[in-house]
Amino acid sequence: MELTEIRIKLIRDKADKLRAFASITIDQTLVIRDLKIIEGAHGLFVAMPSRKLCDRCPSCSGKNHLRSRFCNDCGGKLREMRGRMDERGRPRLYADIAHPINQEARDFVQGRVVEAYQTEKARSMEAGYVATTFDDLDYEYYDQVEADV
Ligand SMILES: [Zn+2]
Repeated sequence: MELTEIRIKLIRDKADKLRAFASITIDQTLVIRDLKIIEGAHGLFVAMPSRKLCDRCPSCSGKNHLRSRFCNDCGGKLREMRGRMDERGRPRLYADIAHPINQEARDFVQGRVVEAYQTEKARSMEAGYVATTFDDLDYEYYDQVEADV
């Protein structure tokens, strides 16, 4: 498998752990968007696109994110620590939409994306740099995602 294109959208806010968004193209065939490059405690890592897990309110059946403490529809108090726990005993709040199938594949994707990020970051310090445009980027959605990181 080759990543034939990697697009990086740098995030300028240094207070945030989120450094960039990325989209990758696999073998000139399939595009995966919404990868995130995050500054973790042990250096940069790549988070695959994910969606928030939800469940239903026991009173009104309204749909709520697992982290919500009150129902969005009826305002009723929801039980805390809902949903299944991960291997570290923390509640699973997100599920990957697309992800590498094993550690080797994960290392490959992460290595290429972090490398593309470093290149983009170096370019951004040159005079006349023009940021990569993501024509299809929904900024309102991204603002929301950033707030959740
Ligand atoms: Zn409810």
